[in-house]
Amino acid sequence: MIKTFLLLASISLALAVQAHAYGNTGHQVIGTIAAHYLEGTRAEKEVHALLIKDGLDRAATWADRAKLPEKYLTAEMLEFVTNNPNHHSFHYCDIPFQEKAYREGITGTNPHDIVHTLRICIGVLQSPNDNAENPLKINKRVALMLIAHYLGDLHQPLHIGCSYVDTSDHFINPETGAKGQPDGGANDFHIKSHTGSPLHRHWDTLAVKLAHDHAGATDFASFLIAHSPPAHEWDGVGSVSTWPEQWATDTLGNARQCFEGIVPHDRFLVPKNEKLDEHFEWVITLPHGYAEKSRDLVELELAKAGYRLAALLKAIWPG
Ligand SMILES: [Zn+2]
Repeated sequence: MIKTFLLLASISLALAVQAHAYGNTGHQVIGTIAAHYLEGTRAEKEVHALLIKDGLDRAATWADRAKLPEKYLTAEMLEFVTNNPNHHSFHYCDIPFQEKAYREGITGTNPHDIVHTLRICIGVLQSPNDNAENPLKINKRVALMLIAHYLGDLHQPLHIGCSYVDTSDHFINPETGAKGQPDGGANDFHIKSHTGSPLHRHWDTLAVKLAHDHAGATDFASFLIAHSPPAHEWDGVGSVSTWPEQWATDTLGNARQCFEGIVPHDRFLVPKNEKLDEHFEWVITLPHGYAEKSRDLVELELAKAGYRLAALLKAIWPG
């Protein structure tokens, strides 16, 4: 479908494909969609005043770029990572996929998870003062860039829902008292063989690639705006600080779909290394039609995340 749509933009397409790093495409698309829904609003002006020369598409990749080795970091990134050595945990939570909702204190949640971090960032933007007197020690500009990124992660099912595997290789729910190993964001499941691509990567980048079909971020965003209009249930309800939790619950429903038909097998032990303790990993086979289903879900979630990023910023800066 997107191919027909893009025939009209084939010249800009050729340029755009080379202009965007592949791994960042999903986040750039979300920032581009949000910018569309902000056009002509006060929030658009506030965003521009904070980001100055960058757009939301560039801002949406800042938190991932801050994970690079120190020599690649800007002074602003270095200050953020120095003040927040646990910043990698800000990108996700690990709720058992069988659960129905994000709840405070449940398995896989903690004060440094994505929902708590988004709440803090929202508070920083709502504050009348722009100072670093908050748990993350960030100013409004950094808070905005973090929100632009984490709102995207909040719509990646495997950044919210997690599977836990028992000694018989069955999925269990630790909230029932059963014991199991968390799946490392589904990085512990390898497609087809021990060295196969992790399931997490399928959702982070491969499903996005299937969806955008070699289009650049700008063209893909235009396609999604045209083909996935906002639905009533995309809106947050009540206080804006509760929206991250509501949207995590929404994404958790999608995480259940990610594990449908997946059967871990051929477990193998991975010895302790500089990053991880000794743990098991598994081989999986994707069920028939999984790639197409994940592509369609990713299209919907990117469109939703872009719309919600704009809605959140308009709620913070109404008028
Ligand atoms: Zn992230």
